[in-house]
Amino acid sequence: MRSEKRCGLFTRLRVGLSLLAGLRRHDVRAARTFMETFFAEDRGLVRVLRMWRWALGQMFGTIPRSLTTVTFAETVARTPIWLVEGNRLANHPWEAEPRTKLPERVDAVIIGAGMTGAGCAYHWARRTGEKTAVVLEMHDPAWGASGRNEGLVVMGRYFAMVRDTVRQHLNEVRSDLDGDSRGRLADQFAAAYTRSAYKNADLIEDTVREEGFECDYARMGWIQARSESAQSSLRESVEAGRANGFDDWTSLTPEEVLETGGMTVDTPAGFSRRAASFHPAKWVWCLLEKALESSNVQLFTRTRVTSVDREEDGYVVHTERGPVRARAVINAIESHTASLHERYGEFIFPRQTQAAFGDGGPDTMKPHVGLSGLQGWFGRHFGGVMVGSDATRIEARRANCINPSRFITSFLMGELHGLFGQSRIHITHEWSGTPGFTEDEFPVVGVLDGYRQWVIGGMCGSGTAVSFNGARHVVQRVLGLEGPDDYPEAYFSPVRLLDPRNHRWPDIEA
Ligand SMILES: Cc1cc2nc3c(=O)[nH]c(=O)nc-3n(C[C@H](O)[C@H](O)[C@H](O)COP(=O)(O)OP(=O)(O)OC[C@H]3O[C@@H](n4cnc5c(N)ncnc54)[C@H](O)[C@@H]3O)c2cc1C
Repeated sequence: MRSEKRCGLFTRLRVGLSLLAGLRRHDVRAARTFMETFFAEDRGLVRVLRMWRWALGQMFGTIPRSLTTVTFAETVARTPIWLVEGNRLANHPWEAEPRTKLPERVDAVIIGAGMTGAGCAYHWARRTGEKTAVVLEMHDPAWGASGRNEGLVVMGRYFAMVRDTVRQHLNEVRSDLDGDSRGRLADQFAAAYTRSAYKNADLIEDTVREEGFECDYARMGWIQARSESAQSSLRESVEAGRANGFDDWTSLTPEEVLETGGMTVDTPAGFSRRAASFHPAKWVWCLLEKALESSNVQLFTRTRVTSVDREEDGYVVHTERGPVRARAVINAIESHTASLHERYGEFIFPRQTQAAFGDGGPDTMKPHVGLSGLQGWFGRHFGGVMVGSDATRIEARRANCINPSRFITSFLMGELHGLFGQSRIHITHEWSGTPGFTEDEFPVVGVLDGYRQWVIGGMCGSGTAVSFNGARHVVQRVLGLEGPDDYPEAYFSPVRLLDPRNHRWPDIEA
């Protein structure tokens, strides 16, 4: 549907000035992230001036024009769209059994009931004989990033992307190596990640099918637009993946982009062929419900873990409802890791990403296909459109606070209309969440304390690429079962971030 109202000088001034007046602290921080990402080649004053020119163009041009067909509900809800129909496991088990008590002792405590904690519970229920596990969640299942995201089951960050972020970090922590060796090591990290991510994606699909999970799963790919200046790096990234045996990441011509996703671009886009989409909260609930069929797994929502202390043969996990003793602890708390484990510092830290949902939107946009523009992402769901953007670091204590920026939503309307044509949209929901990041943008799946406390996190906005197989790996290790080593310590251990000098780095292959 294309309909563009007139957007005269008065409208531009009114919209631009109200955007300026509404700017908040997070907008300024997000602007810095934006500037560092999109004007990375420029330095100092030039970078700031280019940023301002861009921002003024947006505020008094693109955004007012695009908002002529956008309305905002009188009260824009802050509930993520995946949770509007309620939470199947809310207040479990207290709702039905208010007098239930936490167990005094279990074999393992899993902290957090997002997709990672739910994955651990599921694998535990499948593998264990008599051993018991308890999931402790401070809110309700899928309350965190898992119930707020874009809903893509990604094949992971592509090979060249992982290689480049790891390489940058290796320059700092492995200055003992020459450049060539650091390059080869970065390639090895990228291969280890990509291998495990491909396996993870297939494991999710197999599980959805075998268990008959109803979570709207469909595998139709993910398009990522690239600017003219990024074309050579797109070509290089596709070639690098292929040369190393990873063929998921490829590219589409503008005509193919239009046909596959309904998006209009001028230059070829990146394409993850086997990415899928699903309802992320339903995935979490399905996993937990399946796990709870086993008498060895229990879930306690609204039970915050306040600290974890080591004792002779395990741990005391302190909660607001009392302690639970366990032989092993699995931290599945992603961007909250630094808040619970202050002594380890911010080796996993939160970055805020936000999303909005509106009724209407472009008819041309294809459902189930992942769609990313240059600065935002888009999806068709529930007869409307979801838009999102941003990845700004925030304080650890603010992890998963809901604090979306209206400026960013408005900006995304311009991006959406530029890619899909002008359409009518009525914005009803805006929210934010925090994926956990690491300095090398490489996840952590390993032992935290050299003993039996595990951590899965730092998945850098690609939780679906790590969490499920990562959970299987950790559960196998905790139970002492044989299994493939998909997350070798040399790559995935948190020690590479906590104590790089004493980390056992992988041998550099010839
Ligand atoms: C807007 C947005 C879009 C995204 N899009 C995608 C996407 O399309 N595809 C993708 O793969 N990833 C995406 N991500 C990232 C993805 O959502 C995360 O990587 C993933 O959800 C992490 O899952 P998790 O279970 O590890 O963490 P979370 O879902 O954050 O769960 C952690 C849980 O731990 C609980 N917890 C924390 N501290 C404690 C405590 N002390 N005691 C008890 N419980 C505690 C929290 O309440 C929370 O429920 C997106 C993220 C956001 C915010």
